Amino acid sequence: MNGRLNGGVGAMVALALGSLALCIALGSLIGTDPMLVFELGTSGVALAWAGLALRELLEGRRVAAALLVDARDVTLFDVPCSVTPGLGTDAVVVGFLRPRIFVGTALIGALATDELRAVIHHEDHHRRTRAPLRAAALAGWLRLLVRAPSPGHCSRGT
Ligand SMILES: [Zn+2]
Repeated sequence: MNGRLNGGVGAMVALALGSLALCIALGSLIGTDPMLVFELGTSGVALAWAGLALRELLEGRRVAAALLVDARDVTLFDVPCSVTPGLGTDAVVVGFLRPRIFVGTALIGALATDELRAVIHHEDHHRRTRAPLRAAALAGWLRLLVRAPSPGHCSRGT
């Protein structure tokens, strides 16, 4: 574990030094201040991240619109939810301004009462902590840095 931590710190130091060397080299190559290269580079990274996170949020909005077509609003274990046949045996939280819990109709029949209560309260925690917004922010970094697919856990942004 300590070696893994040291490896992570070493990678971050290497990334910082590599970025600094790249800024100095590019600044010298085009004859400008290396700080300007750094500022433009970090601005570009921030813009790319924001674009990827926004794309993730818009995808969540599309998912929410599709789920709402056949959904009906109910209260399960004192938690407001939208039940839809489109989710099957799944449950998700969608929406970043007003996150909403969607529950598959088949899930209600497939679980025992205590199991369903646990799932609903789990999703309610995601709803209250605005997990879709955080997931979109994380997905933006993952796509930018490691070209990873969408996290897709049990929350999506809208
Ligand atoms: Zn979860």
